[in-house]
Amino acid sequence: MGVPTVGCDCSVCTSTDPHDRRLRPSVLLRVQNGGIASIIVIDTGPDFREQALRSGLTRVDAVLYTHSHADHILGLDDLRPLSFAVARQGGSIPLYASDETADVLRRVYDYTFSPEATYPNRARVRIEPLQARTRVHGVEFVRVPVLHGEQEIVGFRFGSVAYLTDVSFIPESSFDLLHGVECLIISALRHKPHPSHATLDQAVGWARRIGSRHTWFTHIAHDLGHAETNRMLPEGMALAHDGLSISVHLESVRS
Ligand SMILES: [Zn+2]
Ligand SMILES: [Zn+2]
Ligand SMILES: [Zn+2]
Repeated sequence: MGVPTVGCDCSVCTSTDPHDRRLRPSVLLRVQNGGIASIIVIDTGPDFREQALRSGLTRVDAVLYTHSHADHILGLDDLRPLSFAVARQGGSIPLYASDETADVLRRVYDYTFSPEATYPNRARVRIEPLQARTRVHGVEFVRVPVLHGEQEIVGFRFGSVAYLTDVSFIPESSFDLLHGVECLIISALRHKPHPSHATLDQAVGWARRIGSRHTWFTHIAHDLGHAETNRMLPEGMALAHDGLSISVHLESVRS
């Protein structure tokens, strides 16, 4: 819902700590592959425009989607200005999505994807399938199935990094895909159980099992204050915050 949450006056929503202001979660990957720089985004939520402006984005080379909920897809239309520049070179921005997510994108953005669409200012984007392993601008993304309530959604592993958002359960077969992950970014909504999101304790337990050296929690509700929660987290684990930037070496990147 973002923090502050609309209509709420709790201590986190009214906190003056800038770390307690949270836009909807997404990841911006600036990939340096030899001499080539690429920009890959995971999820374009309703705050994508604000995040893109804040990050000074001048292009996006690809987008990957975890699932089709509003807080992960509703910024798609704000790819338009960046997509027009790509279209002038005769291209379009690829959007990698599971079949389920692709169906929702086609429905919600009918005026963009329908073959009959005549809206002239539609985003110049195209949907691409998400395989078990998908290579995007030299980075291999491993699709990691996780459960979000009853729904199976997509987490991503790239090199020694994993991004698992909106998780409530990790199947055994997916733990196998997470061996050797050193930097884990995983959702942790709050302390109180939720039918489709992990609690902070559950997420800490999974991080321990995966054995990541650094763990960042994301998709955090207003129940968790930044400073007070970080004080009680184990070493190597912390709440992420808007604008957090991490440098990682992806051995799997090859030209
Ligand atoms: Zn609140
Ligand atoms: Zn969701
Ligand atoms: Zn979400």
